[in-house]
Amino acid sequence: MTGSCGGHAAQSFAVFRMRRAWTAMIRRAAVLIVCVAAVALAASCAGRFMHWTPFARERTAAAYDPARWNLIVVNRWHAIPSEYPQTELTTLRNGQQVDARIYPDLQRMFDAMRADGLDPEVTAGFRTRDVQQRLMDEKVAEYRGKGLPDAAARVQAEQWVAIPGTSEHEIGLAVDVNARGRATDANWAVYRWLAANAYRYGLILRCPDGGSAMTGNGYEPWHYRYVGADAAKAMFASG
Ligand SMILES: [Zn+2]
Repeated sequence: MTGSCGGHAAQSFAVFRMRRAWTAMIRRAAVLIVCVAAVALAASCAGRFMHWTPFARERTAAAYDPARWNLIVVNRWHAIPSEYPQTELTTLRNGQQVDARIYPDLQRMFDAMRADGLDPEVTAGFRTRDVQQRLMDEKVAEYRGKGLPDAAARVQAEQWVAIPGTSEHEIGLAVDVNARGRATDANWAVYRWLAANAYRYGLILRCPDGGSAMTGNGYEPWHYRYVGADAAKAMFASG
């Protein structure tokens, strides 16, 4: 009896130890999962860190297919490829320029906005690489002026200005749309309209709030990218 009793106790203790080890392992796994999720979330919430190790991603040339010119992905990690052809431009009344292929849809969108009582304008369209470089230099200088050291100033600037060679403005497929005169309320009326309707005209919000990990940029409610109506509708539907 004693033996079986002792055996039983030993067995219970073994089970107890196994359970304890098991619980500890589950606890460690849970902590690990939470840590991984936190890092992933932090990374996805903070595109600004994505080019710092350990989140660094190499920049490569964007894939370009002339038959799907409207779908080229150009961003912090995908530079405009050297074979990208010279953009044929259409000049708007205010002097801004866009890829001629997006002009008809853009015009239809502006007609619809005006019909809804808004007074929008394209405040930035096509930009040369030199202009993009100048914008970057100015932004870096602005942050340096606030006392940031060089590297930190560059990190901050790259939040708001695309690295030269990686801006959709350099291929004429992006437009910044604001209210003429840029009054805050009028601007936001324009941004709200765009958020709800631009996709119908083939334009998508490129840098949504919280989407910086995907685009590598800060929230820019005025920055729209042309992808064509079919793609825009599909992207809008999928959120
Ligand atoms: Zn823009």
